[in-house]
Amino acid sequence: MNSVLTIDIGGTRIKSALFANGEIVKTHSVLSHGSESRDAILAALDETIREYEGFDAVSVSSAGRFDPKTGVCVYASDNLKGWTGFHLKEYVEEKYGKPCVVDNDAACALLSQLGDCSQDTLMLTLGTGVGACLFKDGEIYRGQNFDLGALQHITINEGGALCDCGKRGCAEKELSGTGLHRIIDKWYPNESVALRDFFVRVRQGEEKALGAMKEYFDLFEVYLAKVRERIPSLKRIVLSGGAVDEVAFAPLLEKHPEIRIADEPNLCGVKGAYRLYEKEQHGIR
Ligand SMILES: [Zn+2]
Repeated sequence: MNSVLTIDIGGTRIKSALFANGEIVKTHSVLSHGSESRDAILAALDETIREYEGFDAVSVSSAGRFDPKTGVCVYASDNLKGWTGFHLKEYVEEKYGKPCVVDNDAACALLSQLGDCSQDTLMLTLGTGVGACLFKDGEIYRGQNFDLGALQHITINEGGALCDCGKRGCAEKELSGTGLHRIIDKWYPNESVALRDFFVRVRQGEEKALGAMKEYFDLFEVYLAKVRERIPSLKRIVLSGGAVDEVAFAPLLEKHPEIRIADEPNLCGVKGAYRLYEKEQHGIR
């Protein structure tokens, strides 16, 4: 019997699932109160863990940069206030008496999509920002100070939107839902079109919507060229996140067979956390 509690900590929600012999047998979700304080996040984490019993180990996927060896959060934005410097692994192990593994959410999302594939793979999560994580030479590429290579800060639009990193025109700002929205606003200057409605218009073949999508794909092509230049061994790219729509993205996927959309994107976090636990068990990290 192997029973693992997997927890996915994001700025908005803490999602969790209990895996018994590799299958999800229970799930739960609470607000994370990430923008409030560390204590508020920990209250939500404790509430989550108390939902479950009979687990042998805990595996956590969390937003923020993590040192997976120590389970310490090296850096987190204010989406998880007070998380920077927090010893998450130690906290869970001491309070609940179970072994705990921890990793960054982009790394876990990537693990959830690898399957048996060991080819060099880039996972891009297109949401409010861009999460980018690379699997290279059989392992997750950690970059400097666990920044995973900062592939979301590749410049793709000279003079584009100002990024938190201080540069302009990063993929983070241009390829995210926020970036797509900026393009949509340009094509619909007198309307406020929500992302979901925009995708409906793309499906209906509305000319302006297709024009906006084309403008977005042109930026995507710049990113692809730059990322390939930096990682010549790259074989596959997996997309997930709220700014990805299967139909709207079809032209991009048709042109680039190496790009696909993630399986079960809602479960990326907990499934990735389970893969993380398995990897730890087998010592193949
Ligand atoms: Zn940037």
